[in-house]
Amino acid sequence: MEKAETPLQKVQANIVKACKIAHREPSEVTLIAVSKTHPAEAIEPLLREGQRHFGENRVQEAQGKWPALREAHPSVQLHLIGQLQSNKAEDAVALFDVIHSLDRPSLVKALAKAMDKLGKRVPCFVQVDVGEEDQKGGCPVAELPALLEQAQGADIPVAGLMCIPPFDIEPAPFFAFLDKLARDHGLDGRSMGMSGDYETAIRLGATHVRVGTALFGERGKPA
Ligand SMILES: *Cc1c(COP(=O)(O)O)cnc(C)c1O
Repeated sequence: MEKAETPLQKVQANIVKACKIAHREPSEVTLIAVSKTHPAEAIEPLLREGQRHFGENRVQEAQGKWPALREAHPSVQLHLIGQLQSNKAEDAVALFDVIHSLDRPSLVKALAKAMDKLGKRVPCFVQVDVGEEDQKGGCPVAELPALLEQAQGADIPVAGLMCIPPFDIEPAPFFAFLDKLARDHGLDGRSMGMSGDYETAIRLGATHVRVGTALFGERGKPA
């Protein structure tokens, strides 16, 4: 009898299928396992299966669980996918390998200062507010060119663009829009797609998909 597929194998197979439809190579897509709220015991099985890219949305939570996990798995790449306060910029630069939530001039300044201080350049995605929803963060589309220029001027490596489309609407047009914005600005990275829509995002050019629930199950409600 064949062994049951693990959630990771299932997501990886879906990524391969979506790539095939889009005439893309699976190696062009990085799967980020979003482990926010999940304890180390839930993360370890994925590490044993070979998953190496993980996403967290809170600096403090990541500081609590990742140093030990990383000691055992030094090739882990940690992605910060949540909104970042400027006063946490230095902690974020110290811990994370990629930041997906650069979205405002004050954060460019704080991150550049932290990178200079720590002697470490962390690639950043600029988060774009594609749905014009203030609460999710993200740079307004009209302010993107100036923000990109400022980031490049501050010697922050810009990996690409990131978006979180509105929850209740078909996401494809937002993914297509982010893809176009990235192309217009000559950027390679497109961080888009979550558990419910990563296959759609891949068909529309995602290079980084951020998948939590499909790998770890539902997150517990905050107490
Ligand atoms: C939580 C989160 C995800 C993962 O969401 P799922 O629906 O659980 O896959 C992706 N991106 C961001 C920015 C998140 O905060």
